[in-house]
Amino acid sequence: MIDPFGREVNYLRVSVTDRCDFRCKYCMSENMTFLPKKDVLSLEELELVSAAFIRKGVRKLRITGGEPLVRKGIMELFRNLGLYIKSGELDELTLTTNGSQLSKYAGELYEAGVRRLNVSLDTLDPYRFQDITRWGNFEKVMVGIKAAQDAGLKIKINTVAVRGFNDMEVDDLIAWVGREGMDITFIETMPMGAIDEQRSDQFLPLSELKEQISKNWTLTASEYRTGGPSDYFEVSETGGRIGFITPLTHNFCESCNRVRLTCTGMLYMCLGQQDNADLKSVIRSENGLEKLDAAIDEAIGRKPKGHDFVIDRDSDGQPAVPRHMSVTGG
Ligand code: SAM
Ligand code: SF4
Repeated sequence: MIDPFGREVNYLRVSVTDRCDFRCKYCMSENMTFLPKKDVLSLEELELVSAAFIRKGVRKLRITGGEPLVRKGIMELFRNLGLYIKSGELDELTLTTNGSQLSKYAGELYEAGVRRLNVSLDTLDPYRFQDITRWGNFEKVMVGIKAAQDAGLKIKINTVAVRGFNDMEVDDLIAWVGREGMDITFIETMPMGAIDEQRSDQFLPLSELKEQISKNWTLTASEYRTGGPSDYFEVSETGGRIGFITPLTHNFCESCNRVRLTCTGMLYMCLGQQDNADLKSVIRSENGLEKLDAAIDEAIGRKPKGHDFVIDRDSDGQPAVPRHMSVTGG
């Protein structure tokens, strides 16, 4: 699949639920209204749409959410999609998780063909963890990370940089991932969906964070790429890698190779734009399966050049994109 700007689209992110057992402050408000079940694609429908993308050239699939591992029966989807890894039609099946259910599922994920996963963790302090996630349990996540490592899964930690919250903890996080043999990626907060706080208060430009990190750690630009938007640096002191995802301070759109399917079957060609294609209506219509390939082609033909995120006080606290990250999938 080649988009109008000549970019090959070979990476699909699939959000399997908008629900979550946490309420991270930059992601959700405390009282969220979730989608009615009938609007959410069944596991069979999610598999069917994913399979169509694989036939069209997608080589990497990331399962996300909401919290993907709270969706009932989700291991069945992993097992079925894992068959494409075994047949060589897919290079990578992975997921982004908050880690709360990993102790239960790590072994099954490995068996399904998952080898790497991202765990989101913003702090190593149990009290701060409770504060930022509102409902999370730090110990459970730590046990989950250990279980995933024991199962043979390679972990990358995703950390959202929040001003005044975890900027002072960055050195501890880098040292910890170094000891544990994991990589870490820092992410800027993105203005997606209404939350209870001012986004401009939370926003910490990663250019500033990187400068702070460089005072204590020796960073060397790395050639390493995961097919994602991260810029990687090797850390001489730990032998590990640090990635920076800077959607607001640095435009990573030129090399964008991905599209995102929401749990309601809407295909978003860009995380930061509203334009979408309703694949649920297509597959639920008469002869839907036959129309699916053409609907995907038409959508890829509309992939925009880039996003228009801005976070400033003039935006009146209104998000640039009204849907939450948990709907489109991070
Ligand atoms: N629940 C899973 C998790 O937390 O890893 C998967 C979904 S979550 C929406 C995916 C990623 O998006 C997480 O790393 C989270 O920290 C990040 N995220 C959520 N809201 C964000 C925002 N407004 N700006 C930047 N990153 C955000
Ligand atoms: Fe849930 Fe992930 Fe959003 Fe946190 S970031 S509320 S864990 S979906």
